[in-house]
Amino acid sequence: MKIDYHLHADYSADSSNTMRGLARSAIDAGYGSIAFTEHFDFGQFDLCEFGLPAYLPYWREFDALRRETGDAIELLFGVEAGEYHRHWRAADAIFAFHPPEIIVASIHMSPDGFNYSMPLTRPITPDDIRVYYQENLDLAEFGRFDVLGHLGIWKRYLRSVPDESFAAPLIDEVLRTLVRRETVLEVNYSSLRKPLNDILPQPAHLARFRELGGRLITIGSDAHAPEQFDDHYDRCLDILRSLGFSEIFRKRGSDWEAIQI
Ligand SMILES: [Zn+2]
Ligand SMILES: [Zn+2]
Repeated sequence: MKIDYHLHADYSADSSNTMRGLARSAIDAGYGSIAFTEHFDFGQFDLCEFGLPAYLPYWREFDALRRETGDAIELLFGVEAGEYHRHWRAADAIFAFHPPEIIVASIHMSPDGFNYSMPLTRPITPDDIRVYYQENLDLAEFGRFDVLGHLGIWKRYLRSVPDESFAAPLIDEVLRTLVRRETVLEVNYSSLRKPLNDILPQPAHLARFRELGGRLITIGSDAHAPEQFDDHYDRCLDILRSLGFSEIFRKRGSDWEAIQI
């Protein structure tokens, strides 16, 4: 079964997908389960546009689509919560109207506003990198979410990655925390369509996750446009197999179920 647990439709300001279009593409490509994970970024106002006014329409449109698609595919109602550990009080007040079925939590911005998820506006420094992984560690320790999104996003638009070995102990702590809390690590392949041309986390970090006992991984295209859906799925799985992974995981209720790859 194919799955995709990171998809943006038109409640995300930077996406040209529709939920119906994504569901149709997924059914046609033989997917069994997908999650819509619209941006929920309180700290990033250029992408926000997704507080309470949009949340209820998002739920209603999702619910209608789920009735329409029936047994053809499993659809999950989700969010991608940016800097969730910093904004959880405001976010949860909105989520209370209809709790997300899956929360992907990610770091997009540093506390002082440096954006790691877009083409970098200046050369990245060792301090920026340290802050990025520390934010991921704080988020992982906060832990009240399902999936840690796109670990290493700052590398996505770089053709060559600066040495980050000085951050290895911190990255280890992030990975250990995920293993200990049984939080799922996302394998995000948007970076296969970007200059980095590799998956995130990069293979060395995924191998380290396995070494530390990590097994729970899932997959996200992070598609923001129709042609991005499913574009590098097979290549992503090939990389995972080459690292020794034989399973990815889908969410069933509050549990995670293995799918052989
Ligand atoms: Zn993101
Ligand atoms: Zn995303």
